[in-house]
Amino acid sequence: MTTDRLHIIEVAVPVHLDRTFHYRVPVALSAQALPGRRVFVPFGNRRMTAYVLTTLESSNTANLKEIIDVLDNDALWTDNELVFFRWVASYYLHPLGEVIKTALPSGINLQSRKTSGQGTETITGGRSVRYETFYRPGMLVDPPRTLGAKATEVLKLIRDEDSIPAAELRKRFGQCVAQLKRLVELGLVEQEQREVYRDPFREESGKRDVPQKLNRHQQSAFDTVRTALNRQIFAPFLLHGVTGSGKTEVYLQAIAHTLDQGKSALVLIPEISLTPQLVRRFRARFGGGIAILHSGLSDGERYDEWRRIRRGLARIVIGARSAIFAPLEKIGIIVVDEEHEASFKQAEGLRYNARDLALARGQLEQATVILGSATPLITSLYAVDQNKLALLSLPERVRGIPMPTVETVAMQGVKTTISPQLHQALEETLAHGGQAMIFLNRRGFATFLTCSECSSPLTCPNCSVTLTFHRSRGQSVCHYCDYAVPAPGTCPTCGCLELLELGAGTERVEHDLRELLPQARILRMDSDTTSGKGSHDRILSRMIDGTADILIGTQMITKGHDFPDVTLVGVINGEASLNMPDFRSAERTFQMLSQVFGRAGRGDTPGKVLLQTLNPSHYAIQCAIAHDNVGFYKQELDFRREVGYPPFTFLVGLGFSGTAEQAVEQRAGSTVRLLIDLKRELSLRVEILGPAPAPLYRLRGRFRRQILFKSPSRNDLRRLITAWLARRATTSTVREVIDIDPVDMM
Ligand code: ADP
Ligand code: ZN
Repeated sequence: MTTDRLHIIEVAVPVHLDRTFHYRVPVALSAQALPGRRVFVPFGNRRMTAYVLTTLESSNTANLKEIIDVLDNDALWTDNELVFFRWVASYYLHPLGEVIKTALPSGINLQSRKTSGQGTETITGGRSVRYETFYRPGMLVDPPRTLGAKATEVLKLIRDEDSIPAAELRKRFGQCVAQLKRLVELGLVEQEQREVYRDPFREESGKRDVPQKLNRHQQSAFDTVRTALNRQIFAPFLLHGVTGSGKTEVYLQAIAHTLDQGKSALVLIPEISLTPQLVRRFRARFGGGIAILHSGLSDGERYDEWRRIRRGLARIVIGARSAIFAPLEKIGIIVVDEEHEASFKQAEGLRYNARDLALARGQLEQATVILGSATPLITSLYAVDQNKLALLSLPERVRGIPMPTVETVAMQGVKTTISPQLHQALEETLAHGGQAMIFLNRRGFATFLTCSECSSPLTCPNCSVTLTFHRSRGQSVCHYCDYAVPAPGTCPTCGCLELLELGAGTERVEHDLRELLPQARILRMDSDTTSGKGSHDRILSRMIDGTADILIGTQMITKGHDFPDVTLVGVINGEASLNMPDFRSAERTFQMLSQVFGRAGRGDTPGKVLLQTLNPSHYAIQCAIAHDNVGFYKQELDFRREVGYPPFTFLVGLGFSGTAEQAVEQRAGSTVRLLIDLKRELSLRVEILGPAPAPLYRLRGRFRRQILFKSPSRNDLRRLITAWLARRATTSTVREVIDIDPVDMM
């Protein structure tokens, strides 16, 4: 490099500006400021972390600022990953720097910055790595006769294990420092410091298992996937298999084949803490080499897992939605289990859907992608019709177990939460030694309290929702902002002392069941009973080991658990989710009910479901009862076509929120006028709806309005939003969020 040609870098900055920036690199740093690393830069009147995209040389450095420091010794992302980040940024119309920030583990971010000495800055990037002491056999083979009994035992274990952490030795032998010191001095044992990675599931590695012999349908699905894997090109599949049809076994064998090819596997699941069984099955099949990424990890644990993956120490990554950004190389297969789940959608910041990104990343990596579900998205089934996804179908449960029978209990005029029919069925089930699950998608005791004098319901002062009565906490609580008042309390409107309880929650069901069945062992699983670490697992293991009879819960209990002794499932308020203000409410109801029904009779005794509902004739409910996926798909597709919703149109949501109601209203209003002008100017086929109050008009003290765009052309939508982004006035106190393909409209 000649002296007049200077080192310049292009960086992305995690701010809401849709462009990159250039900086000069001082000579002392020029060997380090390379693509894939983070640098510390002056930005406006701040200093911040930026991501190096490219390096260039130029003699023209006029007006360029200098970087302050380089934060990494190695690249944090590969060229391939940068292509993916750029794709994400462009698809979601989101700044690249913010995408990279989202993709990196939060533990890696700049944590502290101290000024030391003469204005030089010391930067501590990320957290420090943890080391652990290990012992392994030394060079000397023959122990002296004088070696004591305990030291001999310690030595034997170290030799058997080949390498063992000090903590493990302490666990087995108690205090053994003196013995270890002697063994090291004698050269019988060596000590080493090893970088360790915290693994939240490590203690669970236990029993190994072997591949099952596949049944006819599984075999045919697997053969198709294997052929695709062998071709090593992008091959997207929808694996549609009823609950308990052996989808997981197909994933496991497909992944084994991928590993044999020298490639790696990415598995996305809705929520790991709810599905410890699944993680255990992967461990049992593949042993180590699995990394787990999910939202329950501490920053440190997450960063550890991330580093293991980056270094190629894990070839299988299992994780919740953010795992789609895992730094995994040579991806051969991406599995998205329960692809219909709404939790694949990130609702804040970069609003991505990991299910959609699985297809995008799979395409970039030329990988096989399997979207699996017993109740696929309407849009996925439609993609099969359009030949965009290839269908793999598992129409029967393994071992020929029949689907459960479903009976409805009409609840008109029934005053109790548990109908006499359900009460009787529970008694019979328990008398035969079976287990039952009761599903109600609402936690708390009563949905809300209302005044017996003036009929005003108790509402949250920050959000437009009613407060849920939690009897055991003695409070009425807002489920959105956690605002709470003592309960039952008095009516805030008229001061009346008598408040009525309306609508039942899981706490109420538990209370009533304990009265009806005093001898039954009852558990409740909802977000009130599972806040502690490991609490899900404790509840689930009590169902598995048979020390509980009835599990009551919200949708948490519908997730992939396999309880072979559950023969009865009761559903309270089966139609509740039909009343949600969302065009997907029928789809959601059908999926949720089908999943709940699927929990019954997974063992050898056939299952039975009792569905308590006020609205048994709705097609979502009727089709779920009949296990009629095809019928539901047809009727729902007719409805979508009629009202012009996906898959027949593309949607984009634009949300406005702020603490000043009028400012939000004005901003939303002027935006709509600008959008209508732009639409005419560019003659785009876009329907602009709103601005309307968001379904939750007030949330955590903010007023919320939304505009919805509908168009048969994704490209027209993009052009309109891009034009608006370029033209909008940027100074506003109102926060604006773009939501491409909104799953929940805000
Ligand atoms: P799904 O993922 O479709 O709900 P699973 O893969 O969990 O189904 O399978 C349900 C149960 O059947 C599991 O206990 C699994 O071990 C078992 N199973 C799966 N495939 C087979 C097979 N081919 N033969 C025997 N048992 C199987
Ligand atoms: Zn609130």
